[in-house]
Amino acid sequence: HAEQTPILSLNNVGKTFELPRVKGEDSQFIALQNLSLNVYPRQTLAIVGESGSGKSTALRIALGLEKPSQGRVQFEQRDVTNLSWREFRPLRQRIQLVQQNPFAALDPRFTIFDSIVEPLVSFGLLKGEALEKAARELISRVHLPVSYLDRLPRELSGGQRQRVAIARALALKPDLLLDEPVSALDVSVQAQILDLLDELQRELGIAYVLVSHDLAVVANVADQILVLRNGQVVEQGSVAQVFDHPASDYTRELIAAIP
Ligand code: ADP
Ligand code: MG
Repeated sequence: HAEQTPILSLNNVGKTFELPRVKGEDSQFIALQNLSLNVYPRQTLAIVGESGSGKSTALRIALGLEKPSQGRVQFEQRDVTNLSWREFRPLRQRIQLVQQNPFAALDPRFTIFDSIVEPLVSFGLLKGEALEKAARELISRVHLPVSYLDRLPRELSGGQRQRVAIARALALKPDLLLDEPVSALDVSVQAQILDLLDELQRELGIAYVLVSHDLAVVANVADQILVLRNGQVVEQGSVAQVFDHPASDYTRELIAAIP
């Protein structure tokens, strides 16, 4: 990657939460420490860690939803660490989150059409026939029938709703997708969704950051793996490096536990 520019960089990012005072003492919780990573165009980075290891905090910082307590965030080498919500808005078109919970992402009262085109409407990009054409293209990209545009979320299966959430995340033609796949889905449906994201990423040339508690789930689609434990990086490298020469006992145990 020597000649390539990372699309996203976190440099020594830390996050400390102030907790309610306990017995009059200040209490702090360190959710992330010294997290550094680069994501390059067309690359898939998987952040792996058990519940509470800091994965969602890292994603929220990358999305600009949360400010780091230490360190810098760069988007295409531009320092965005201290941007206000308003200043971050143009970037938000280019960084999209695939909502972890499609029930939360898709308003039950809105048709699939409305959900998919909402980002385009919100940014005032398209209307009328152009909007309808974009919706048909987006739903086809995720391999759902165009007729589903008229349906409500409850008329779709969990996996189909996840496909709609992906179509919606693609609406603004992002350069970077951030994703927390739903572990509530059947393993086979999860695998189909990851295959779809892998295919789209290759076709569209986007960078993809994937967060999961399951090393086995991400091993097939990721290029790079980063393992978090209690907010600290215990492993970082290509999939081959990590599997062949794990740097920590913790990662060795994760690999050994894969069936
Ligand atoms: P993960 O996504 O890996 O499960 P999170 O990033 O959500 O982990 O959380 C990491 C740790 O930070 C957890 O222990 C969580 O309780 C804590 N945490 C997250 N957000 C807050 C907050 N707003 N205030 C206090 N603690 C938080
Ligand atoms: Mg989480």
